[in-house]
Amino acid sequence: MKISDLVAQAQAPFYSFEFFPPKERKNWPNFFATVERLSELNPLFASVTYGAGGGTQDNTLEITSHLKNDFGLEPMAHLTCVGATEKRIRDFVARLADSGVMNVLALRGDPPKDRVIDWDNAAFRYASDLVAFARRNFPDFGIAVAGYPACHPESKTFREDREYTRKKIEAGADLVITQLFFDVREYIDFVERLRHNGVTVPVVPGVMPIQSLDSIRKVLSLCGANIPGYLYLNLEAAHLEGGVEAVKKAGVVFAVDQICRLLDAGAPGIHLYTLNRAETCLAILQAVKERGYFS
Ligand SMILES: Cc1cc2nc3c(=O)[nH]c(=O)nc-3n(C[C@H](O)[C@H](O)[C@H](O)COP(=O)(O)OP(=O)(O)OC[C@H]3O[C@@H](n4cnc5c(N)ncnc54)[C@H](O)[C@@H]3O)c2cc1C
Repeated sequence: MKISDLVAQAQAPFYSFEFFPPKERKNWPNFFATVERLSELNPLFASVTYGAGGGTQDNTLEITSHLKNDFGLEPMAHLTCVGATEKRIRDFVARLADSGVMNVLALRGDPPKDRVIDWDNAAFRYASDLVAFARRNFPDFGIAVAGYPACHPESKTFREDREYTRKKIEAGADLVITQLFFDVREYIDFVERLRHNGVTVPVVPGVMPIQSLDSIRKVLSLCGANIPGYLYLNLEAAHLEGGVEAVKKAGVVFAVDQICRLLDAGAPGIHLYTLNRAETCLAILQAVKERGYFS
């Protein structure tokens, strides 16, 4: 089933999960134990990331298939098109369909550092090209795209960023999932601007639990997200007092507040970046439920 239809039919705000495929096969049993624990929470859907540089692409396929067939989840496979041929994309999506996976998150991806992309002759230059191709060749698929409340790092202005997001919807996407962000006002502004541009599809905010100061620095340097000053100071203070564990706890408290504020602001649900960590996700969702949400 298309995830956009599930979202449209949802009677109340929902949560969904993002997993990433462990690189090493020996870690798969642990990974599936995490999936099993989190699947008991009945997420609306679950997405699985895709390595733009190769390596984990077949893993994405295999894992989404397991999510569907062994755990009863509605899976969404992330799919990047940077440097890909039409044949490779067609074969990959056909294999997804064969295993019962009918939803993709269509992405451009980032060029691997060791490879120069000939953009002028590339089969796909932007995610919107992939969306159009997938919509033409696989009309029954649900197609989500990425959105950037703080702007994609390559975008020069908010205006152009929102316009390119709109183009992805115009090309046939039916759902937007956002990049992580920490200031709820960025999400509200993002949705308002998209609505102003005529985009009517659901915009699901991505929420990433903060794990440590180091991991947050790394994430921020890669994806162009902003962190509010008060949050950073709070995390630093937690680190000084209690190290990584204290930062993790502060991260859970922040994620709970963020989710409640997003739902108050009218978000249809949230997409939780699980980081493959069951305990953190369980703690967050439990606390949000205790505040009367997701009941
Ligand atoms: C929810 C989410 C999940 C992700 N999952 C993965 C994953 O599994 N694997 C992975 O490798 N990466 C993943 N990414 C990261 C993503 O691949 C990068 O952010 C990448 O740099 C951009 O991908 P995109 O699909 O947003 O590209 P695009 O939408 O193509 O945008 C890329 C840039 O080009 C600009 N642009 C778009 N269209 C045009 C146009 N017509 N003319 C000129 N400029 C244009 C945009 O404004 C933007 O600056 C994810 C990101 C998000 C938000």
